[in-house]
Amino acid sequence: MFLYNSATHKKAEFTTHTPGHVEMYTCGPTVYHFAHIGNLRSYLCEDVLERFLRWSGYSVRRVMNITDVGHLASDADEGEDKMLLGAKREHKGVLEIAQFYTDAFFEDCRKLNIKRPDVVQPATGCIDQYLKIITKLMDTGYAYFAGGNVYFDTSKLPRYYVFNAHEKEDLAVGVREGVEEDANKRSQNDFVLWFTKSKFEDQALKWDSPWGEGYPGWHIECTGISLKYNGEYLDLHCGGVDNAFPHHTNEIAQSESYLGHPWCPWWFHVAHLNTEQGKMSKSSGEFLTVSLLEEKGYDPLAYRFFCLQSHYRKALSFTWENLGNAQGAYRKLLKKISTLQEGGEVDSAVTAEFHEKFLRQVGNDLNTASGVTLLYDALRAKANDATKLAVLSDLDQVLGLALLDRSAALRETAQSQQHGAYTITGEGDDAVDALLLRRYEAKQAKDFQEADRIREELRSQGIEVTDVPGGAVWKRV
Ligand SMILES: [Zn+2]
Repeated sequence: MFLYNSATHKKAEFTTHTPGHVEMYTCGPTVYHFAHIGNLRSYLCEDVLERFLRWSGYSVRRVMNITDVGHLASDADEGEDKMLLGAKREHKGVLEIAQFYTDAFFEDCRKLNIKRPDVVQPATGCIDQYLKIITKLMDTGYAYFAGGNVYFDTSKLPRYYVFNAHEKEDLAVGVREGVEEDANKRSQNDFVLWFTKSKFEDQALKWDSPWGEGYPGWHIECTGISLKYNGEYLDLHCGGVDNAFPHHTNEIAQSESYLGHPWCPWWFHVAHLNTEQGKMSKSSGEFLTVSLLEEKGYDPLAYRFFCLQSHYRKALSFTWENLGNAQGAYRKLLKKISTLQEGGEVDSAVTAEFHEKFLRQVGNDLNTASGVTLLYDALRAKANDATKLAVLSDLDQVLGLALLDRSAALRETAQSQQHGAYTITGEGDDAVDALLLRRYEAKQAKDFQEADRIREELRSQGIEVTDVPGGAVWKRV
């Protein structure tokens, strides 16, 4: 596939270290609160990317960390510990908070049809791995000890910025948030690999280290976890665009200094979800969660459909109206699919043609909107229902919209209207159902002329009726 790479600022043909296999890493959530749907947009796009790679023939190992220690309020090692903030807010222990919000995160993912990565590793489970890396960085002069903490020395690198769209202005992050600069740092970009109690007296989780009892910095956990499970050559690293600087920049700095060779060539960053107030965050505007969408009557998969209609590198504007439109379109699509009849021979030339088109179009920098358009093209194709269903099933392996399951459920429940012994199955239109019921009653009364007249009337409206034992099935053609 062709993929935009934020490390090179170019779109190019995706390649891997081992042909046919992808080692993939995703920065996981900091589990101190619910994820908002802006965070989830990243996981959703990453899920589609993983599905696409598998669907197009790669084997994939996807690894994700769970940040349950070390992530401070500012991404640049300043401010309060996020896990402590969560624990204080809810008067619970840090690990209790971590478990609760980890479960909540995966429950949201399940609702959005986001697959669980092959490896999910809480940061607190790999302390030995971080200590091993930090020890080598100290031994080789890439790290220094100051004021109780171990810092990475960015001045040792010939090139620190790799995502150079994120330079100077982002360095002011700590200052903007009114947090004092860390006087122990030799230069502003240096970052903490290991904190000791000298920084936070009330840190709940601490481990022994050669530099004193303490806890790891946020950035080292992704390097540690990825090296442990993905090995020395990572193919593809994903995250939200916010992660590019300083988090991913720091991951690259410490990983390559540790390994002594290039680490990960491909970087995939998903743009923000914006509300009318600007970039979505936990602290500003309405706190939009999957549960809130459900409370307001929205289907989480309608949100998935909404995200797929736009490109992952473009900021997406969220309004309730936009989501409502997406939900309307998603339901209409399901209804249409629910009228397709199973059985009959699948035309493999047609399915191959759609497979090829999807591969080419969605394979062009994950153009999911084109993929959604192909679903509509499939429904309009000159092919029988069985072929259309086969195409939809194939493409939905990547889009993950549960098209066949949802439409089958629709067919079985909401669309079947029971009228005594007579069952009408259609697209949920009361006027059509009423006409069909009148036709049934006419037939019972042996008024076949009236029954035929109604059938003609329905046909003139583009409705095709099939009589089945105990009822009728109708669809718009
Ligand atoms: Zn990370």
